[in-house]
Amino acid sequence: MTRPLVEAVIDLDALAHNIAHLKATVAPAELMVVVKADAYGHGRVQTATQAVRCGIRAIGALDLDTAVELREAGIGPEVTVLSWLYPPGEDFGRAIRARVDLGVSSLAELAAIADAARALRQRPAFLAPRLHLKLDTGLHRNGATAEVWPALVSAAVAAEREGLVRTHAVWTHIAEASEEEDTRALERFLDGVSVARRLGATVNVRHLAASSAGFRRDDVRLDLVRMGGHCWGIPSFDTTPDEMGVIPVMTLRAQVLAVRQTADGRTLGYVSAGYGDGVPRNVAGRTAVAVRRMQHPIVAVERDHLVIDATGSHLAAGDDAVLFGSGAEGEQTVRRWGELSGTLGDEITTRIAARVPRRYVGGAQTQEAQTR
Ligand SMILES: *Cc1c(COP(=O)(O)O)cnc(C)c1O
Repeated sequence: MTRPLVEAVIDLDALAHNIAHLKATVAPAELMVVVKADAYGHGRVQTATQAVRCGIRAIGALDLDTAVELREAGIGPEVTVLSWLYPPGEDFGRAIRARVDLGVSSLAELAAIADAARALRQRPAFLAPRLHLKLDTGLHRNGATAEVWPALVSAAVAAEREGLVRTHAVWTHIAEASEEEDTRALERFLDGVSVARRLGATVNVRHLAASSAGFRRDDVRLDLVRMGGHCWGIPSFDTTPDEMGVIPVMTLRAQVLAVRQTADGRTLGYVSAGYGDGVPRNVAGRTAVAVRRMQHPIVAVERDHLVIDATGSHLAAGDDAVLFGSGAEGEQTVRRWGELSGTLGDEITTRIAARVPRRYVGGAQTQEAQTR
């Protein structure tokens, strides 16, 4: 088998390690693994399936396409799959059929969900969808404002009495930008939970924190913490994966295609990954690639390849270059890449092009290379 020019190796054992560590950290709160944006480039079906194998019973999907796809891939109804972002005119019937939990931010969404349930309720297999009513606590992304909140809760309770929906959870998303702002958001959230209960809603689960606050603050964990970045081994605050006890899951590898001498006596290596593969151009001059456990500074990122400075190194065509990974072969982590190039590590993994094959290693069994 010829080696691919570039590949993203996804270590399912590292994912299992991270999940075990994060589960223990947030316990007794439950851990929801968020696999939006194709699991930040790691592959939504494979990582969600591995998460379920690791005992995870809650998956955050963001959109309904992803949520329904996970169900079709075999993630059963014992696992909560939550969707919360919808285009106008969304078909909620497929969500109800697939037993997807629905985040609800507005009266219009609630009305559309109730309509879809009304159309399906005569079917023998009908089960009223579980709702996660979303309150805006200051981020202003989505969620009902405090003014609309009582009306949204009351409408959900009325739909529940008709047998169309089940009230189940109340949630919000906090900014995780400042401790004070998060504390205020927590207070507003708990007020919103009280209002919901007073108006007759069932609140089995309260959730508001993502990776950053959920890892650092026990007061915001409540019943469930939604984590994306940390599951992939990418710290979302100022620390290293080692320090926080996680292992980067993605390793980006490419081949050294050629080695050339320049007129001024430098040696340059050409590595088969470029911005067409999603390597950001602005890592040039800032980050390095490991070959034979030695770091080689990136000089330039072109469309199909990148140029590294190999002066004084014994680089040869056919060598394996590690762009970023766990650090096991002397490479930088993607968190470090993000830090050095002014972005987030999870932006870098998310943007690795779909055409770059993902190869899954570890897990129950090692699978063959697969391109999505
Ligand atoms: C993306 C997202 C998360 C996960 O965020 P991380 O910082 O990657 O853990 C959690 N909740 C919601 C609503 C999100 O959109």
